[in-house]
Amino acid sequence: MADFDYVLVGGGLQNGLIATALRKRQPASRIALVERGSVLGGNHTWCFHRDDVSPECREWLEPLVVHEWPGYRVVFPHLERTLEGRYSAVTSERLDEVVSTAVRRGGAGSKLFLNQEAADVGSHAVTLGSGKRLEGAVVVDSRGPPPPSERRREGYQKFLGLEMELARPHGLDRPVLMDATVDQSEGFRFLYVLPLGSSRLLVEDTYFHESCSLAPVELRRRILDYVAAQGWEVAGISREETGVLPMPWAAAFEQPGPGPLVAGYRGGWFHPGTGYSFPVAARLAEFVASRPPDALFGREFRRLGRRHSRQVLFTQLLNRSLFRWFAPASRIWVFERFYRLPANTIGNFYALRLTWRDCLRLVSGWPPRGLSISYRLR
Ligand SMILES: Cc1cc2nc3c(=O)[nH]c(=O)nc-3n(C[C@H](O)[C@H](O)[C@H](O)COP(=O)(O)OP(=O)(O)OC[C@H]3O[C@@H](n4cnc5c(N)ncnc54)[C@H](O)[C@@H]3O)c2cc1C
Repeated sequence: MADFDYVLVGGGLQNGLIATALRKRQPASRIALVERGSVLGGNHTWCFHRDDVSPECREWLEPLVVHEWPGYRVVFPHLERTLEGRYSAVTSERLDEVVSTAVRRGGAGSKLFLNQEAADVGSHAVTLGSGKRLEGAVVVDSRGPPPPSERRREGYQKFLGLEMELARPHGLDRPVLMDATVDQSEGFRFLYVLPLGSSRLLVEDTYFHESCSLAPVELRRRILDYVAAQGWEVAGISREETGVLPMPWAAAFEQPGPGPLVAGYRGGWFHPGTGYSFPVAARLAEFVASRPPDALFGREFRRLGRRHSRQVLFTQLLNRSLFRWFAPASRIWVFERFYRLPANTIGNFYALRLTWRDCLRLVSGWPPRGLSISYRLR
């Protein structure tokens, strides 16, 4: 018999969710979690819409949620809209705390391997840099994305965020997911503002762009300019996070088969249209945890892969048209049009569970301002 039921490689979002779901669904399962860092989860604030995830996922996600708001706002030059529906945030610290406890209290022999590099990842065994071999009935490889490369056929959602304490309350009752009333000359750009406390904010300057390079000094300055323009006075900055998330338009999603389950970013289990992966990662975690390890790969799994693949193909088509048919300064109009759509289509887009009707709504009608044949030909 293998030493473990599950050997999870990579202690980021995907395997963090799988370990949390296993704790709920199969409390006696023996888990090994291997992470090369000294803590789990890295340095992120992950957000998701409550409706992105099924009621089954919510049963085990609850302990991870640190902040929650009743909805969110978007602001564009010709549109201001408030959308209802709970929006939640999970921090790396909380993920570390909950997942470490889930593994330590898991079935007999469950173990956390921190500061350990997985050198070789096979179907039923993982060899660590130290030479130690871990055998498992199922191996899940969630080592995150390969480093961004400008050669691939993809755009990026890239951002820098500053978590700050203000001298006085900011007065926001919900996040501003996009404030796009800022300079658009470098491509679609918006500020993302999360109110983490009455005078605490996370403010991110975000770009949808073909290039994966970030200019941190300039982005910090732009955030502080934006904050000052809102009339907010910064008392201190406590944390910074950066992200360069791939928005592919041509990468194929490989159908999962026997072998290590390649999950998370590495396996293509993310939303190509946002670079985010919370809803998809939660769906996969629930799937993995709700059946025994020897029943993982089969018809149901192929069906899950096919469903994901169809959603991926469609959202890649949207990426392709965004990056190929719209000049950088015109891309904002695609998003302003998107936010005029019915709330359930917007929700289904974020959740990556678009229906045929949603797809039609997204591509039919008068095209957004800025669609350019000459840009495409160039
Ligand atoms: C700053 C930031 C904010 C984000 N915000 C959101 C958000 O709000 N909502 C959302 O849905 N998505 C968000 N994303 C995207 C999201 O973080 C990723 O989609 C998600 O983390 C991918 O999960 P993963 O488990 O595949 O990879 P990761 O979370 O990157 O985890 C991979 C882990 O594997 C470890 N690892 C790699 N190689 C090895 C090895 N050889 N041996 C051992 N360990 C290894 C890494 O150290 C890392 O901990 C954000 C990303 C960033 C960077």
